[in-house]
Amino acid sequence: MSHTPTRADFDQYMVPNYSPQKVIPVRGEGSRLWDQDGREYIDFAGGIAVNSLGHCHPVLVEALTEQANKLWHLSNVYTNEPALALARSLVERTFADKVYLCSSGGEANEAALKLARRWAHDNVSEHKTRIVSFSQSFHGRTFFTVSVGGQPKYSQGFGPVPGGIVHGEFNNLDSVRDLIDDDTCAVMVEPMQGEGGIVPATQEFLQGLRDLCDAHDALLIFDEVQTGVGRTGSLYAYMEYGVLPDILTSAKGLGGGFPVGAMLTTDRVAPALAIGTHGSTYGGNALASAVALAAVEHIATPAVLDGVKQRHDLFREHLEAINRKHGVFKEIRGMGLLIGAEMATGYEGRAKDILPLAIEEGLMALIAGPNVLRMAPSLVIPEADISEGMARLERAVARLVAAK
Ligand SMILES: *Cc1c(COP(=O)(O)O)cnc(C)c1O
Repeated sequence: MSHTPTRADFDQYMVPNYSPQKVIPVRGEGSRLWDQDGREYIDFAGGIAVNSLGHCHPVLVEALTEQANKLWHLSNVYTNEPALALARSLVERTFADKVYLCSSGGEANEAALKLARRWAHDNVSEHKTRIVSFSQSFHGRTFFTVSVGGQPKYSQGFGPVPGGIVHGEFNNLDSVRDLIDDDTCAVMVEPMQGEGGIVPATQEFLQGLRDLCDAHDALLIFDEVQTGVGRTGSLYAYMEYGVLPDILTSAKGLGGGFPVGAMLTTDRVAPALAIGTHGSTYGGNALASAVALAAVEHIATPAVLDGVKQRHDLFREHLEAINRKHGVFKEIRGMGLLIGAEMATGYEGRAKDILPLAIEEGLMALIAGPNVLRMAPSLVIPEADISEGMARLERAVARLVAAK
């Protein structure tokens, strides 16, 4: 290759639907990344809650390379050992009896929504089609999932929007009572809204949704694409609440950086996706499944899960210390290693302005909407990297304050 790719190539060769930062990382190890010029960064972004074990974790590299030398892909005309082992592992560790594998969160949610519609159609009535979701929710970028998602900007201009979808207010059970009835097939909710601003559901809200679904024979779908696979300090966030869904979707951290998704459900519901009703060429791909199995088995241990809770406390202490000095945050919230810091009065909408400053200081972070600084680092990020990353974040925050 004669030409080293540059950021300018993005604008020249790629569809303009993203606006990536100027630097191009080329190598990663644990919670550190290096760009084309050899500059080093601490990673609090984790590829948007994807790199659950950091970059190039030996357990994942081994699973990937071992499988790469055996068998990559078959399609679902055949099954394969890694896919079967992954499905079994997920069933044994969760509420679920059955698993559908795919390659992304949007695809997992698409499967969940189609399953709910089909289940209601086959078991109750063809009129039982309504889907209840929530304002500010995010469920992916397929057209069904942007329509169910509660941020109209993602579906605007792509209409006509599929029918039978209504939105309540997150953490407001009364708003759901007005929307749900016997023609409702499903309620879809994130136990903690991610893109919507890192907002955990209350216990009463999730339990209330479970009760309302039971009263109307509707299916409760937990979108755990962002909160799943150890992110909250439990394997899945529903375990923190003790409220069981009928369908759960998982992706992002599931593959630790390899594209994979899963939809989990029960024996009562699963038969509605009968032979031929749904599918995906890549779903259950052997390479993806081998990596996801290694990720799940490594993460679903007390050492890793307890470590997430300890690191949560560390993140909170550091952020509170930064805030005592600079007063930029109104609230620090979240669960486990999915943490949001909402900007204070006077800094509304400025979370996004921290990101380029942080990059200059050698830190990668995220936002969740314009007003919330978001962190979703490796679940095993070393304490030294947390301290150093926070020192860099403080310098970025000080520059934001100074520029005011
Ligand atoms: C990221 C995300 C999705 C979409 O996942 P993709 O892999 O981008 O399709 C869906 N739901 C939630 C809660 C997410 O955070």
